[in-house]
Amino acid sequence: MGIETITESHFEAKFVPRTAPTDEEILAHARVHARSVADDIGVDLDALSWAISARAKRRAGACRWDATSEEATIVLSRRAYDAFDRAAFESIVRHELIHAWEYQRFGDSDHGPRFRKRAQEFDVPVHCESFTEPRYRLRCARTDCDWTLDRHRASKPVKAPGRYHCGRCGGSLRVEHVESGRTWESASGYGGARTALGDDW
Ligand SMILES: [Zn+2]
Ligand SMILES: [Zn+2]
Repeated sequence: MGIETITESHFEAKFVPRTAPTDEEILAHARVHARSVADDIGVDLDALSWAISARAKRRAGACRWDATSEEATIVLSRRAYDAFDRAAFESIVRHELIHAWEYQRFGDSDHGPRFRKRAQEFDVPVHCESFTEPRYRLRCARTDCDWTLDRHRASKPVKAPGRYHCGRCGGSLRVEHVESGRTWESASGYGGARTALGDDW
């Protein structure tokens, strides 16, 4: 089994970015996705602002509305970007765009029937997934390196950590199942942990 050292910062698949994405990179991803759906949603992107929150711990995103200037601001959480895969992040962007559309069009927004209908139409969860407690945490196995990355899904590095390296120092990876504290460093270890935890997985 070959060892892949990922040097390129990449959001998904290749994985384990060496450096955290900048706010500009996160916003660029959000804007590109927004442009691809704005016409269908009917939201006016020119009348919309974007921001990144480094502090938001619970909410993946939010849409603020200034009734005086009639300007919506979509705030996306850096933690959500780190924790979610590409598709999940983009669904958060669409969720907030639907809020922005409601504000622009009706002057208010909530998760009522109008929102739910549109959410269904654009394949968006009505309640954004909480990311306070990730299911998995990737850690560097070296004791002098405190690099970690939270994951909600069993991505490739979670299932086969032996094929990946720490995003910071190149050390080997250890995966922790956060709720149980159980750890593994290989694909067989992942399988063993799954079996051992059974319904508690
Ligand atoms: Zn919402
Ligand atoms: Zn490391």
